[in-house]
Amino acid sequence: MAKIPINIKDGTVQKEEDQTIVGIDLGTTNSLIAYIKDGDVTVVKDEQGKNSLVPSIIHFGSNGSIEVGAGARSKLISNPERTIYSVKRLMGKAYDDVQNFEDYLGYKIINEDEAALVKIKVDDKFYTPVSLSSEILKVLKARAEKAIGKAISKAVITVPAYFNDAQRQATRDAGKLAGLDVMRIVNEPTAASLAYGLGLNREDEKVIAVYDLGGGTFDVSILQIQNGIFEVLSTNGDTFLGGDDFDKVIINQWKTDLNITDEVIKSNKSLGQQLRLAAEEAKKQLSSSDNFSSNIDGHEVSISKTTFEDLIKSLVQKTLDSCNKALKDAELTIKDIQHVVMVGGSTRVPLVKQSVADFFDQEVFDELDPDEVVAKGAALQADILAGNRKDFLLLDITPLSLGIETVGGLMDPIIPRNSKVPGGAGRQYTTSVDGQKNLKIAIYQGERDLVEFNRKLGEFILKDIPPMAAGMPKIEVKFMLDADGILTVKAEELRSKTETQIEIKSTYGISEEEMAKMLLDSIQNAESDIKIKALLEAKNEGQNIVLASARFIKQNQEILEPEEIAQINVLRENLSKAIKNDGKDKINLEMEALNNYTTPLAERAMDYNIKQSLQGKKI
Ligand code: ADP
Ligand code: MG
Repeated sequence: MAKIPINIKDGTVQKEEDQTIVGIDLGTTNSLIAYIKDGDVTVVKDEQGKNSLVPSIIHFGSNGSIEVGAGARSKLISNPERTIYSVKRLMGKAYDDVQNFEDYLGYKIINEDEAALVKIKVDDKFYTPVSLSSEILKVLKARAEKAIGKAISKAVITVPAYFNDAQRQATRDAGKLAGLDVMRIVNEPTAASLAYGLGLNREDEKVIAVYDLGGGTFDVSILQIQNGIFEVLSTNGDTFLGGDDFDKVIINQWKTDLNITDEVIKSNKSLGQQLRLAAEEAKKQLSSSDNFSSNIDGHEVSISKTTFEDLIKSLVQKTLDSCNKALKDAELTIKDIQHVVMVGGSTRVPLVKQSVADFFDQEVFDELDPDEVVAKGAALQADILAGNRKDFLLLDITPLSLGIETVGGLMDPIIPRNSKVPGGAGRQYTTSVDGQKNLKIAIYQGERDLVEFNRKLGEFILKDIPPMAAGMPKIEVKFMLDADGILTVKAEELRSKTETQIEIKSTYGISEEEMAKMLLDSIQNAESDIKIKALLEAKNEGQNIVLASARFIKQNQEILEPEEIAQINVLRENLSKAIKNDGKDKINLEMEALNNYTTPLAERAMDYNIKQSLQGKKI
């Protein structure tokens, strides 16, 4: 196992001392980048040297330009369908997972296949959450490069403790697409604790709570720190509770005060925008004074701290209920919690701070800027990885990702590069053909999105899967890496308990130079790789829809009119042609067209089938 510092520019193995690894907090509302110079943390600010926060918002101009940050934020209300916010909520998510909050987003998310990953549509182009996040990362990277005065190629990026494997992998991919070698994905609460020095000392043995109230999300994590290792004992929270809700209660109050109806706001976007901005300003001001007043469109608005506190009391109580649940899940009580760390811009609200301190019956850690602590901790973790803190021992890590080949020759990493060794991970797959009996599992090592460019470690066949319809088998592929770097791969069909496994020596016969070259290739080719990957995925999805719509016609012949069947066939043919000849955007457009046409027909078919099944039944 090795840690290889490579220079992305020329592929040489880099000396430890000349690399800066940056720390990035890729937030739902705001993102930041920080680094360590001579032992001190610097959070990079904008050109005016004022703001360290980059709003996580992306605006697409009608001329194809892309704007990220404060500029994009100012277009949220005036141009919602071209202004993308909260992409973090969509990372690694299938349409199925996000359906229930589609209404909350002002832009368009696309569903062709319930199980496929979410896409976002602006004009006739389709974007993935990964590529949108990479736009934010590119801006952060450029900011830091300007501040440091040299190119940056390595980063630590933070994610919420509750992020699953797919969400973490999506975050890594976004980093890669922005030209960054993601050395490690770190939990946000872990980074915040590090920023306060908790866990930096190997002798530290503590249980702590990290309370994070951001713009749109709340989470609390209970962490156990032991031997420099952070273990998440439990997390709880509400992914739709944050500072934005504090703004909303103020807006509603003012709407009542001024007799402004929803209809008025709908027809006067600028008034809505002004109310929103003034409400946030009021909230922030009330964190340090007792009253706020301003003028909107000639109307006097004001609010006192006491009124504000009354209005948000129940929201704050909700967060405390989550803290209670987190304690319960960790099987701990308040007495077991040695420290409480405050994270997120909304913890600046005095009532929040006081309520959390009262709940945990102790003073909370709040000396550091709550919206900067995660980025600061990420920078510290990066500094440790860069080898600048000799007192801090690094765990063994995997030098290259390990994964398997999926449809279309794509690499699906199961154990990402830089994961702790020993360790393991698994993922579930299924079949794509009815009655499929055998499944080939081919194992690869490397960072490229296409297996043909990676190193094949071996393959085996999971045999004798009992006959089932495509998509029914649940095939779990598990990777286990022991302390000597021996990889065991096991595949099991969970319904029938059919299983096979093999053992592979994953680092055998590969030199440091070769590893460095593989890494370099992956970053230099990230953009074209991700394009090819997106095309293969679109083709694959399109093919599934072509087949599904054929099945739909077959099953519903008596319900469909002949012209409807003809029209479906025309659209299917268009989609098939696009799959054969065109790029991903065209394929996506044809999928959308077919889907839009068949959705009402499918609803009609469903109603009909329900009626049929009720007929003859006595009620
Ligand atoms: P996220 O982690 O979701 O990206 P942040 O930690 O940056 O979000 O928190 C953003 C939220 O913090 C916003 O709702 C913002 O209005 C709020 N906030 C920032 N400063 C203050 C303040 N002084 N008082 C109250 N709320 C604040
Ligand atoms: Mg945050």
